[in-house]
Amino acid sequence: MSFSSKAADMSFMSRVFSRTWSVALWTTGFVWFFGLFFLPGIFLFEAGSQNAVAESTVSHRIIAVATTGMVADMVRAVGGENVEVAQLMASGVDPHLFKPGRHDMLALIKADVIFYNGLLLEGRMTDALARLGDAGRHVVAVSSNIPQDMLFVKPGGATSLQEGHPDPHVWMDPGLWALGVDCVADALCDEDETSCAVFRQRAAVYRGEIESLVSYGNERLTAIPPSKRVLITSHDAFRYFGRRFDLEVVGIQGISTESEAGLREIEELVRLIVGRGVEAVFTESTISPRNIAALRAGVTARGNAVADGGELFADAMGAPGTAEGTYPGMIRHNIETVRAALLGTDNVHKQNVEASKDENTE
Ligand code: ZN
Repeated sequence: MSFSSKAADMSFMSRVFSRTWSVALWTTGFVWFFGLFFLPGIFLFEAGSQNAVAESTVSHRIIAVATTGMVADMVRAVGGENVEVAQLMASGVDPHLFKPGRHDMLALIKADVIFYNGLLLEGRMTDALARLGDAGRHVVAVSSNIPQDMLFVKPGGATSLQEGHPDPHVWMDPGLWALGVDCVADALCDEDETSCAVFRQRAAVYRGEIESLVSYGNERLTAIPPSKRVLITSHDAFRYFGRRFDLEVVGIQGISTESEAGLREIEELVRLIVGRGVEAVFTESTISPRNIAALRAGVTARGNAVADGGELFADAMGAPGTAEGTYPGMIRHNIETVRAALLGTDNVHKQNVEASKDENTE
């Protein structure tokens, strides 16, 4: 395709040149005159193009495609100015349901290297990614460094998956996600050996930033009493988050209020919330809040109340340009939202008062 389009360009160019040649004979006189005006313009153009070359310090830019925002954030951090990253799934897009369109396929075909989460997160892209891999394209799953025994493979656990498949939501544990940074650095080094040292340097900085989220989360969530450490959300995206930060996780996607089984499950959850005095339940940015609303209504019907804990970022980051629009920002948002809601407003207030007292006495 590229050869025939080049040939077409050539014949077009030769037509243009022959036309120009005949016209040129008529216009020679004018050119002498107008040349006086054109010459300064030509020098300006030359100067402009020299500036453009001087500004670009990177000789070769790698063209990369990343599926989710979390993967793209990692590739941008490690690749820096050496890599042009096209992110397929925008903020708020559900990766389980995302199907690449024509525009996305073109980006995938054009890319030097393609980064994706893996573990069947991008369920509807599986065929496309496999075909690209079979065709010898550089396709990298950033979850491929995670040891098998660190993955959840509980039947019926992740509702959107077939039984026996690992839970793909590995970015929810920053300790696991940090392992993916080397996958990205290795792949970029394969693409551009001369910049490898820079990629490794940036990878170390980004890995450090991600790893620090583990101690940050543990510190911030430690005040939540054991009985109240229950995280109830719209779907099963938080099991890795829960394991890392010692929270019991219950996802309720798939529960239908129209079936008897669904109603029974809701009733069980209502009993759990009332019995344990759970302060809040959470919605997710990519999932309809319908089930969470049904659950809260069920608790209210029992004469109790459970707060809307706010929106968590599970399968997609926040809008670009906001704090939550980066991977570390997204995780910090989740930690702070869970902390505030599960402690309950009064407790957060008490804690802040205690903290300021400590600071004053020190
Ligand atoms: Zn999910």
